[in-house]
Amino acid sequence: MVNLDDKRPHALYRGRFAPSPSGLLHFGSLVTALASYLDAKHNNGTWLVRIEDIDPPRELAGASSKILKTLESYGLHWDESVLYQSQQTDIYQQTLKQLAHKQLTYNCQCTRAQIKKLGGIYPSTCRSLNLPPLNNAIRLINKVGIFKFNDTIQGLITGDKKVAEEDFILVRKDGLFAYQLAVVVDDIFQNITHVVRGCDLLEPTLRQLSFFEILKTNSPIYSHIPLAVTPAGYKLSKQNKAPAINNQKPQPALISALRYLGQNPPEDLRFESVENIIKWAITHWCMSKITQKQQIVIQ
Ligand code: GLU
Repeated sequence: MVNLDDKRPHALYRGRFAPSPSGLLHFGSLVTALASYLDAKHNNGTWLVRIEDIDPPRELAGASSKILKTLESYGLHWDESVLYQSQQTDIYQQTLKQLAHKQLTYNCQCTRAQIKKLGGIYPSTCRSLNLPPLNNAIRLINKVGIFKFNDTIQGLITGDKKVAEEDFILVRKDGLFAYQLAVVVDDIFQNITHVVRGCDLLEPTLRQLSFFEILKTNSPIYSHIPLAVTPAGYKLSKQNKAPAINNQKPQPALISALRYLGQNPPEDLRFESVENIIKWAITHWCMSKITQKQQIVIQ
């Protein structure tokens, strides 16, 4: 159960890769998986995989097992059993119950269109209305509003204060758990100390930090990897149907991913086995070689 009252000391190093099974792994997700794996292993840490399958309408059938197979063929082996968010319903409900008990949540009937009309930032309209839960979203009372944090790669990140202070959604109107709820509860549940992921999640980090604070729990250390974008400026993403990486011949993509991460692999490493490439990469891993950029254009 998530502890709402204790500040826990950090475990040594526990990292994770948390893909959503909305598509197969592409070069951008390989880079993220590889960076979080190498950072964990270089620091003698534990590396976990969590499948973020809380949004069934956006899921691609069979993607979870294909993602796991791809990770294995790239030599990225996880240390504990894979956690599926679809199995975490009880713990999300318990957390919501505890928050409700502390009067830290409320039901909200406002639509996106209504909020847009009001300037795009939700003005806590339903906080005092005491609405019933049916067909309404659940929002978190956010009096913390953390709007700055220090990212290991990107340096000091400062967000919009108004956005940071917004009461954000924990459960959607359609009854599905929101990403912010699931990600924070599971990072606590799995005792995650270090999060290495893509820069597309820099902004949501601020809300997550506020949520950790409200739950009176230590937050992980964050490192955000530059996002791989196409020459036209599009992010490689599952939704954009970025090509899946090759499971049969992982070496070329592994070497490209290491170069992308600034790791300068020697020329002849590409002729080695996946195991040897990964071994070299763990030994030589240096986070500070990653460019401090939020995006990198790849051909
Ligand atoms: N599930 C998210 C994604 O696939 C990543 C969440 C995270 O790393 O916090 O984009």
